[in-house]
Amino acid sequence: MSDLDFKFLREQMVARQLKSRGINDDKLLYAFSKIPRELFVPQDKRAYAYDDSPLPIGLEQTISQPYIVAVMTQALKIKENDKVLEIGTGSGYQSAILAELGAKVYSVERLLDLSKRAKEVLDYLGYRVNLKVGDGTLGWLEFSPYDKIIVTAAGDRIPQPLFEQLKIGGRMVIPLGERFSQNLTVIDKLSKKEMRKEVICGCIFVPLIGDYGYKDN
Ligand code: SAM
Repeated sequence: MSDLDFKFLREQMVARQLKSRGINDDKLLYAFSKIPRELFVPQDKRAYAYDDSPLPIGLEQTISQPYIVAVMTQALKIKENDKVLEIGTGSGYQSAILAELGAKVYSVERLLDLSKRAKEVLDYLGYRVNLKVGDGTLGWLEFSPYDKIIVTAAGDRIPQPLFEQLKIGGRMVIPLGERFSQNLTVIDKLSKKEMRKEVICGCIFVPLIGDYGYKDN
């Protein structure tokens, strides 16, 4: 497939999967229409890069469905220069969307090979994202507090270190629930101990594996 073919598929994705389902933030739609999602998926999956579904990226992990990436990002209400912590770098696609919106992105991935691959693509496209390999349920204390936190793997509770590393007045988006069925949840941190929770929609994510991930892992 040529670059022009991919550009066409990208425009169709924006119109049919995002705009028509209520994604209306112009900067976000521009980011989706600009970033070549096909570079973030394995070579043999490129033809499916703009399908309305998640795709395998190796090591039993996935790049999320475009619509879910859009819903999570729109819910974060990113402002220029927001400091954003992402847990689960995966392919690096979500990091690229956040960086394109002007956020300073810090992203943690537990699997070294995925982090390496994501770095290659992000560097190639010129997105400066700070990457770390480790257990993201512990956050990234050094650069805290964060304006926003996005967790792109599911848990059965909010990892306490992540809540602590979120600014008061900050927002977190995280899939919470059981192993094979979760709710995409928005958390607003009101004070050191208080939060407001709102569920956006149902979802299914791969599990967070780590100290504050599912208790049975
Ligand atoms: N945001 C990614 C993207 O744009 O491609 C998709 C992420 S994928 C759905 C979830 C990722 O979370 C996987 O790469 C997985 O290895 C990672 N993960 C799971 N538990 C983690 C943890 N404790 N710390 C960091 N990453 C974790």
